[in-house]
Amino acid sequence: MSDTAGFLAALAGIAVQTDRALVRQKSRDFFWYSPVLKRQLNTVCGEAVVMPRCEEEVARVLAAAVRHRVPVTPRGAGTGNYGQAMPIRGGIVLDLSALDRVLWTRAGAVRAQCGAKLIDIDAQTRASVGGELRFHPSTRRTATLGGFIAGGSSGIGSCTWGMLREPGNVLGLRLLTMEESPRVIELRGPDIQKANHAYGTNGVITEVEMPLAPASEWVDVVAAFPTLMDAARFADAFTRQDGIAKKLVCVLAAGIAQTHFRALAGALPEGRAIVLLMVAAPFLEFLPALLAPHGGAEVHRQPSDEAEVPLYEYSWNHTTLQVLKTDKTVTYLQTLFPPPGYLAKVAEMEAALGDEVPIHLEFVRFGGEVACFGLQLVRFTTEARLAGIIAAHEAAGCPIFNPHAYTLEEGGMKKVDHEQLAFKREADPLGLLNPGKMLAWENPDWTPQQVRHLYETIW
Ligand SMILES: Cc1cc2nc3c(=O)[nH]c(=O)nc-3n(C[C@H](O)[C@H](O)[C@H](O)COP(=O)(O)OP(=O)(O)OC[C@H]3O[C@@H](n4cnc5c(N)ncnc54)[C@H](O)[C@@H]3O)c2cc1C
Repeated sequence: MSDTAGFLAALAGIAVQTDRALVRQKSRDFFWYSPVLKRQLNTVCGEAVVMPRCEEEVARVLAAAVRHRVPVTPRGAGTGNYGQAMPIRGGIVLDLSALDRVLWTRAGAVRAQCGAKLIDIDAQTRASVGGELRFHPSTRRTATLGGFIAGGSSGIGSCTWGMLREPGNVLGLRLLTMEESPRVIELRGPDIQKANHAYGTNGVITEVEMPLAPASEWVDVVAAFPTLMDAARFADAFTRQDGIAKKLVCVLAAGIAQTHFRALAGALPEGRAIVLLMVAAPFLEFLPALLAPHGGAEVHRQPSDEAEVPLYEYSWNHTTLQVLKTDKTVTYLQTLFPPPGYLAKVAEMEAALGDEVPIHLEFVRFGGEVACFGLQLVRFTTEARLAGIIAAHEAAGCPIFNPHAYTLEEGGMKKVDHEQLAFKREADPLGLLNPGKMLAWENPDWTPQQVRHLYETIW
């Protein structure tokens, strides 16, 4: 039986917030992108927010929470999209944003506390060793490092470096276990996958060690193309140009940027598909010859750090956010168009769904291949139709990482991750960390067919 009052009484000296409005605010993330999650999660609220300032305080909080059987949901900046940091079974929100120090930088690597903001890490590594994080989510200005590892997957720089899950893209994780005497565990090498993208269900990350890329002078470039597939073919060819340092290759169907990207208004020709690029300055002179075969033309250029809105804040999950500012009827998908032949699948889905699902693609390295993720907009009508659109993609061989579900398995690979489940048994034996997010914890034999039944049980 959970005893929150007894738990809070044991936290003398640690900052606690119980004001209802503030607790509600810190119990939410960007779940409202999804009309399905909005319906399911809108009333979710924790009982308190606890704000430790150092690892020792985190350990005290976890020990007290175990003694009093209080669920704990870790939180960085709360920019996740799927209710990841929302305490759906109540208990407390563990706000880790005060653990924000960069601990050391070396040539090629950095180690920072979990609450350090990605933009601050980049500033320090640029100044000290001329390096920067290999890639970051488009929430770079607000998101924390711990939240990125526990909740994110890829982002600006993935066109060169791939996904967080790929070996080498995270070097080390230091975690605290959820036990009466919390233990420190350092995961390195392949063991990192035990807690990478586990939504904070199997340990509280306190420190992260990341590899660095050489820092570059990035330039935002926008190009226009006659058709979506011209833009997509250019993006594919450009992503394969390994000699050109690049950080962003984003393709948008005609109309998305022209209608919704305020800071670029006037620069974008109507009726054209748009490509957003971040290219290192020394390589810009190669662009015209690469654009021309696909009918592309540059229409805008600006140093990334001089832009009021950097181009990356129009890309990845920011595209949907920019559109939602002026059109509340849209939602989105997260689709893998897998290699080989992935461009044919993009063309197939464009032809099948047309303007109901305006195409937005992010080009990435994926297991050494080039591929793209679709973060397509969806003109939402009903949940049944949304489910139909998802099913159409899956039937065409394009897996959906469902952004309309809040569990690890449904938002991920649609299967139980036995390594992460085994680590949870070790690191959170009572199942008190972010409960309700790992379906396998309650049902190790979970399969996708059981989703509907589970929703009915939970809601
Ligand atoms: C506009 C927008 C754009 C985005 N773009 C991208 C993108 O390009 N790429 C991408 O991958 N994601 C993207 N996201 C999702 C999200 O912003 C990122 O994953 C981000 O890195 C999350 O960081 P955060 O600090 O906000 O984490 P939170 O939202 O606070 O937490 C995310 C998850 O991690 C857990 N967690 C947080 N800190 C810890 C910790 N120290 N230990 C254990 N668990 C922890 C939480 O419980 C939660 O499950 C985007 C979201 C939005 C709203």
